[in-house]
Amino acid sequence: MSANSVYLAYLVAAVLFILTLKGLSSPVSSRRGNMFGMTGMAIAVLTTLSLTHNVGLILLAIAVGGTIGAIVARRIEMTAMPELVAAMHSLVGLAAVLVAMAAFNNPVAYGIALAGESLHSSNRIELFIGTFVGAITFTGSIIAFGKLSGKLSGKPLRFAGQHWLNLLLGIAMLGFGIAFFLSPSWTPFLIMTAIALALGVLLIMPIGGADMPVVVSMLNSYSGWAAAGIGFTLNNNMLIIAGSLVGSSGAILSYIMCKAMNRAFFNVILGGFGGEASAEAAGDGVQKTYRSGSADDAAFLMGNADSVIIVPGYGLAVARAQHAINEMSKVLTEKGVKVRYAIHPVAGRMPGHMNVLLAEAEVPYEQVVEMDEINNEFADTDVVLVIGANDVVNPAAKNDKSSPIYGMPILDVYKARTVLVVKRSMATGYAGLDNDLFYMDKTMMVFGDAKKVVEDIIKAIA
Ligand code: NDP
Repeated sequence: MSANSVYLAYLVAAVLFILTLKGLSSPVSSRRGNMFGMTGMAIAVLTTLSLTHNVGLILLAIAVGGTIGAIVARRIEMTAMPELVAAMHSLVGLAAVLVAMAAFNNPVAYGIALAGESLHSSNRIELFIGTFVGAITFTGSIIAFGKLSGKLSGKPLRFAGQHWLNLLLGIAMLGFGIAFFLSPSWTPFLIMTAIALALGVLLIMPIGGADMPVVVSMLNSYSGWAAAGIGFTLNNNMLIIAGSLVGSSGAILSYIMCKAMNRAFFNVILGGFGGEASAEAAGDGVQKTYRSGSADDAAFLMGNADSVIIVPGYGLAVARAQHAINEMSKVLTEKGVKVRYAIHPVAGRMPGHMNVLLAEAEVPYEQVVEMDEINNEFADTDVVLVIGANDVVNPAAKNDKSSPIYGMPILDVYKARTVLVVKRSMATGYAGLDNDLFYMDKTMMVFGDAKKVVEDIIKAIA
């Protein structure tokens, strides 16, 4: 391919990636967005392949990686998606570090130095940035994976002088980066990489369970910048553009998530919040009473209501109850009940988790309402059905200053006339906190697996 055709192909792919992001901003256009993304990626990969001399080796790598990816994607449970995403981010970080090492080992082959000459100064900076962002992304994502999958405790790991240590390491990393810039050699390069690897661990370990959503989107952003860094090293415009798109969209998402959880972005990054969100915070030793009822009771209450708001949470995903809940909504709608779904931005275990589940079950988009829009309506609602949600409806976020989730906006379910809560037990949710909503006079607990309970409700209404 001529140089001009390559630029043109990359430009087309870049435009398709931008259209992808635009498409993904609404459930109505998300399918089209994905098609743009796949087409753009196919163009980008084929164009890059046409540039390389080692096609056989690359195809082999694609075959091995693609096979592993396909097997993992088929096996993975929807509920384990966040940890899979974190694991994937770690690979992007590792790739950035390895490419930088390979480029530094043989700069002539990578076209970043002429034979017998030293690295150009701009390439030294690129290598430094690509490596440290990649290394932090690599270890940070491994820790996030451990926390999300429960292999590491979700509790924040803190010690005195932590911020000072991080600052010191940050300065040391910069110092070795400058040493590398002044005289490129392996010693400062490797020390700088080792410090960045340690920083990745130290930055994510202190972040508590409740702030993990922000961490996931932040690491997403880092992995994008790491990819853009490799793009500079490899002199590949496509990678620079795609990496920047991932990096900036991840940064915007992190900002939105912080706003949704009422957290200061820098406090989360520096590991200051989400702290005491541990199981120890659950319960205050006082025996509280709650009311429980059956699926038949729930069916009676909803069947006789004018309006019902359904609040889905992580438990809906665990039980794979999205199709059943759509069935139930149809039955209720046929009976003349107004049904809507209230979506909290951090419900579930990944950004947009509930939207994805409801879209999969083909719930009509007009029934799905975001938190800000629906919060005013709870007070005028007859029945709210909370299904597998816990933290996102916990009134402690509003009225208990000592709660680790204090300040996080919640769905104002407690204002409704009657609240039905479907879950298997009185156990806490992700943040490990007791929930006063469950003990209110207006609340009825319906214990059981979400899918089974909803199926029973459908039978009872029909
Ligand atoms: P929670 O984790 O607070 O609560 C989920 C509830 O579902 C549990 O209390 C559990 O109770 C119940 N449950 C589990 N399995 C089933 C089942 N099969 N049938 C019925 N109920 C079930 O979920 P929320 O969605 O309310 O809140 C999300 C939490 O996750 C927030 O704290 C958020 O910060 C965090 N988070 C969010 C991420 C995101 O990006 N969205 C990423 C990482 C964390 P029981 O065991 O009694 O059934």
